[in-house]
Amino acid sequence: MSQDSNASSATSGAQILDGKATAAAVRADVAAGVDALVAGGGRQPGLTVVLVGEDPPSQVYVRSKDRAATEAGFRVETVRMAADSQQADVEATVRRLNGDDGVDGILVQLPLPKGLDADAVTELIDPAKDVDGLTKDNIARLVLGQDGLVPCTPAGCIEICDRHGISLSGKDVVVIGRSHLVGKPFAQLALARNATVTICHSRTRDLEAHCRAADVVVAAVGVTELVKGSWLKEGAVVLDVGINRGDDGKLRGDVEFETARQRASAITPVPGGVGPMTIAMLLANTLETSRRRQGRA
Ligand code: NAD
Repeated sequence: MSQDSNASSATSGAQILDGKATAAAVRADVAAGVDALVAGGGRQPGLTVVLVGEDPPSQVYVRSKDRAATEAGFRVETVRMAADSQQADVEATVRRLNGDDGVDGILVQLPLPKGLDADAVTELIDPAKDVDGLTKDNIARLVLGQDGLVPCTPAGCIEICDRHGISLSGKDVVVIGRSHLVGKPFAQLALARNATVTICHSRTRDLEAHCRAADVVVAAVGVTELVKGSWLKEGAVVLDVGINRGDDGKLRGDVEFETARQRASAITPVPGGVGPMTIAMLLANTLETSRRRQGRA
């Protein structure tokens, strides 16, 4: 089975929300934005990724980010630091990048090796360069409805909706998962789009009942096929953020795709749904910070 087989095999039921194609469209828009910025006398946007240690998945993510950012026309740098780096050394790197005018976006790849305080490192990033949207300043801006930088995965979920004409206004949206990275920021974004939002989590008593009442279900849990198709309201929209690798090596989402697609009106597949949007939104955030920092927003 190919990586995007779910995305390409839609024959009945729900509209399959193709994240690969949507991400490609976002990336093309970003590349055009970079060209326009440079053609207008601006400087090439700069993204710096800090990678501490040799965590294999992190190395893969960083390579993908590097490739995508280079393709979009960014100046990309990866600062590689040893796994036994001291907290002070990592913090000094972030401070140096904060002070480097050519760096528009700083991304510290998480998780950091044991013994390092990731929250302290994240909080040091200049909020104007915080392209992951994880500093307290940007979180506060999100909650207050002010312009800021939004975490890439939930921003990608919103972008998929926008680019498929799916409005959240007035909808009952159930977000499953309350992480700082996905669940909570998505809930804020949906609220800002005038949705009525319920956040479910590991202590929620009757998840099925919440799903049954939802116009939109966003699953960001990390439990394979936790949400059954039979739990969905007819015509619901499903955004499946989960990425779970089974014993058979295949990736599956947090939603039982084959049954869900029979009831939903639209659904993101896994793989090929929300996943590809994260890097695309990282590029969009970096272009935005670069424009703002160059006074060309
Ligand atoms: P997390 O582990 O930080 O949070 C999981 C959340 O799920 C928690 O808030 C927990 O309360 C809730 N939860 C756990 N078990 C539950 C249950 N039985 N019922 C209801 N809620 C339950 O995870 P995360 O970082 O938010 O990631 C969630 C999933 O999304 C993972 O599969 C992750 O791999 C994936 N993810 C994908 C992308 C992407 O597509 N690019 C990005 C980030 C995360």
